[in-house]
Amino acid sequence: MIVTADWVLSVAGPAIRGGAVLTDADGRIEQVAPLDQVVASHPDDVVERFDGCAIIPGLVNAHTHVSLTVLSGLVPRMPMRPFLSHVTAAIQAMSHGDFAASAALGALESLRGGVTCVGDIAYGPASLTACAGLGLAGVFYFEVLGIEHGGLRAQLERHCFPLARGACAHGRARCGISPHAPYSVGPEPLQAAVEVARETGASLAVHVAESVAERELMLGRGGPLLEVSARLAHGFEAPGVGSVAYLARLGVLQDIVAIHCANLEPGDPNLLATARGVVLCPRSNVYLQNGTPPVAALREAGVRLAIGTDSPASNTDLDLFEEARALLALDRDLTPQRVLEMVTRDGARALALDDRLGALAPGLDADLTVVRIGETADPVAAVVATGGCETVQAVMTAGRWRIRDGRPVGDVSVIETRAAAARDVAARAIAAGP
Ligand SMILES: [Zn+2]
Repeated sequence: MIVTADWVLSVAGPAIRGGAVLTDADGRIEQVAPLDQVVASHPDDVVERFDGCAIIPGLVNAHTHVSLTVLSGLVPRMPMRPFLSHVTAAIQAMSHGDFAASAALGALESLRGGVTCVGDIAYGPASLTACAGLGLAGVFYFEVLGIEHGGLRAQLERHCFPLARGACAHGRARCGISPHAPYSVGPEPLQAAVEVARETGASLAVHVAESVAERELMLGRGGPLLEVSARLAHGFEAPGVGSVAYLARLGVLQDIVAIHCANLEPGDPNLLATARGVVLCPRSNVYLQNGTPPVAALREAGVRLAIGTDSPASNTDLDLFEEARALLALDRDLTPQRVLEMVTRDGARALALDDRLGALAPGLDADLTVVRIGETADPVAAVVATGGCETVQAVMTAGRWRIRDGRPVGDVSVIETRAAAARDVAARAIAAGP
């Protein structure tokens, strides 16, 4: 199939006016070039034309919790500690079916917003199954916290985590591990997670320096998370340095994707340049009253930056374009081109999925998003300024259309009905209190 629009923004090379993407029968990209060149070499292929649009790579939302999508709007803006209690109450009340329904809704909303790949924190297999079922790629990080010394592998085995050598290093939807945070997982399980990841090829993601309360705790000033760490992080003692330096001392920083990094110490940006990447979630940080990440300092230190929405429990929606615009507002030297790279290529690199997606280039999966931008000479600026659920015209994952004319392909009413029931369960649990 040949997909063409006014512009093709491949991220792998310069913008192509009147460009086209040729996909093959295996769902891969075969060629990216001006339309006449592609048609000349493949005259019999069907041409799908999108006037007034730009074709960009499918977006990478590098930090989500799709199985918490039904919590959207249920937890008001509040600081970290009470927020965790509310979300935990909902998680404990939700069944496997509720998580599956919530994850399917999250996958659907992701597609509507042009996202074809997620870095997702998962509480079981529901997220991967639901997302893969709707064509999304991603890393599904199984979340661990409160693990006792020597208990990580047993915990992973109980949840059927693939522990064979290299088992997590291929496919579009891969398993990862997420030790929740430095204060909720002791030092031994953190280091054990790195060992398992090196064996299995799994990616690692950790919430790092997210809250004001986390900073207070790590620096030895106690605070509202002290009780949480005493209960969950076996063997943990406040190190007297920030979370980033603590993870560097443990020897795990270079293996992880650090999520948030909104409350850093001086010198942390340079340390974070050695990590796999940092995922910024500026709207979630504001929602939980955690300030904003030092975007310019991270960028200038050469940190690999990706962007995530976090879950709709701590945000208003899963709109990655809106998150990108929030980031642009924090750093006046950040350009729309750099932001577009962060939500595509750099996100894929942070998730170690850049062998499959993140750009429009031959050999990569045919994941693409078509955005209506109208007549413009600066398509990158137009995409970043106006992208969103309202302007995403079509989305393809691995060569198959998932969104056409701005709407999901196929009947999604079952997903919406089941998600509404799961939302009732979560709402009741949150209303009853922790
Ligand atoms: Zn999160």
